[in-house]
Amino acid sequence: MTTKRITVALGDGIGPEIMAATLSILEAAGADIAIDTIEIGEKVYNRGFKAGIEDKSWDILRRNQVFLKAPITTPQGTGFKSLNVTIRKTLGLYSNVRPCRAYSPFIRTKHPKMDLVIIRENEEDLYAGIEHRQTDEVYQCLKLITRPGCEKIVRYAFEYAKRAGRKKVTCFTKDNIMKMTDGLFHKVFDEIGSEYPSIEKEHWIVDIGAAKLADTPEVFDVIVMPNLYGDILSDVAAQIAGSVGLAGSANVGETQSMFEAIHGSAPRRAGQDLANPSGLILAAVQMLIHIGQNQCAEKVHNAWLKTIEDGMHTYDIFQEGVSTKRVGTRDFAKAVIARLKEEPKTLPSANYPEEKPLNLIYKRSAQKRAYKELVGVDVFVQEDNKNVETLAARIKKVLSHVPLELQMITNRGVKVYPDGFDETFCTDHWRCRLVAKEGSISNPAVIWMLLRDLVTAGIEVIKTENLYLFDGEKGYSAGQGQ
Ligand code: NAD
Repeated sequence: MTTKRITVALGDGIGPEIMAATLSILEAAGADIAIDTIEIGEKVYNRGFKAGIEDKSWDILRRNQVFLKAPITTPQGTGFKSLNVTIRKTLGLYSNVRPCRAYSPFIRTKHPKMDLVIIRENEEDLYAGIEHRQTDEVYQCLKLITRPGCEKIVRYAFEYAKRAGRKKVTCFTKDNIMKMTDGLFHKVFDEIGSEYPSIEKEHWIVDIGAAKLADTPEVFDVIVMPNLYGDILSDVAAQIAGSVGLAGSANVGETQSMFEAIHGSAPRRAGQDLANPSGLILAAVQMLIHIGQNQCAEKVHNAWLKTIEDGMHTYDIFQEGVSTKRVGTRDFAKAVIARLKEEPKTLPSANYPEEKPLNLIYKRSAQKRAYKELVGVDVFVQEDNKNVETLAARIKKVLSHVPLELQMITNRGVKVYPDGFDETFCTDHWRCRLVAKEGSISNPAVIWMLLRDLVTAGIEVIKTENLYLFDGEKGYSAGQGQ
């Protein structure tokens, strides 16, 4: 076996403490790794790097391909980008694997049988970071869901379930409201799921699914979901399993991978030797499996389980009558090291004989390009006068020059013209839907002429969205109230 060179970042807040604890365990367990340490996070942001990372660190990350990362603090303010999100997207780490299980009766939980894995899509959704202020009153964040993104994560979830011998994959979406974006995720789940007949499949609307997860998590096995829901619900799952400080995660792409605790830098707990290093330790176990050091992964995991069984607990999981000793970060690590040749007696022991890294290489399905027909345009305008009839009249006046007609105006997605209700609250942000009088628009330049005429008439255009049919099927949502 050749020594595996990995990249390590100590992070912010509790990061350096939990990383020191984790590395001391890896060293004592004989992990065959060499470490390149990079600096990321607060200090780098403060040196003027808006993404919290310097160029030379990217080179190291790309070369080593395996990154063990402590949590970092993201500064407030729109000038700063979340480094976590940037790393996941830039390195193509599309799959975020977050096991959450109970360690009852050794760690208090209302859900002693809970043992699930959340597979969170890691690159898309509202995390595209495309936000705009469009008017005085309205801000927008773009939710991007792509077919390749859905196919990659859903395939990963089923392959993960197959390899881990798990019986069921559940999908959470909000496709009753977001019929196109979350609808695509659900559709791809059904399509790819049909290739795995021996695995049970189910879909939950995320709100009731989340309620069920918080109430009876033991009914779930593997859950796959879009980025935002996965971010939120994996914290919920970890917390109800015992503590957010217990869960580790693997961020896996085709060639690169990053391993981290699911929690943040907990600045309030920093520098006090209080934090639970378990999330990062378990992330390191995932990393050892990923780099093929399965025996070492088993050894560390079993020692950790035995430590938990022996009641050596940090403050977040400490419970009178169950825990035997309240320990700090350093002593917790020492307790794990002292048990490196032991196995748990009650909790199932870790066993990773055959596990190999699950780096799935995405193959784009050979879909032919759809026949795309331009049939109209949504023009978004800022208009302070809340009288929509006046706005509609001004737009119609312009339309005499173009082969388009005003179909409706909506405000925050609710139709207010024609036949709106006085009760509907309106902001200064209006979507005006203009559709081709004759089925489709053969010359897209018509839209540019329309925009020129609208602007000349003093209408403040913010943005447009073209309306297309894809093979005759609408590629846009109807306004509510239609
Ligand atoms: P957090 O997860 O850092 O901490 C919330 C609370 O959870 C803490 O106050 C503490 O009570 C508890 N906690 C978390 N980890 C613990 C541990 N290991 N041991 C014991 N208790 C623990 O969430 P936050 O306070 O909302 O975020 C703090 C910072 O972390 C923010 O700047 C945020 O952007 C960042 N963050 C980073 C990551 C990451 O680097 N992957 C993830 C989430 C948040």
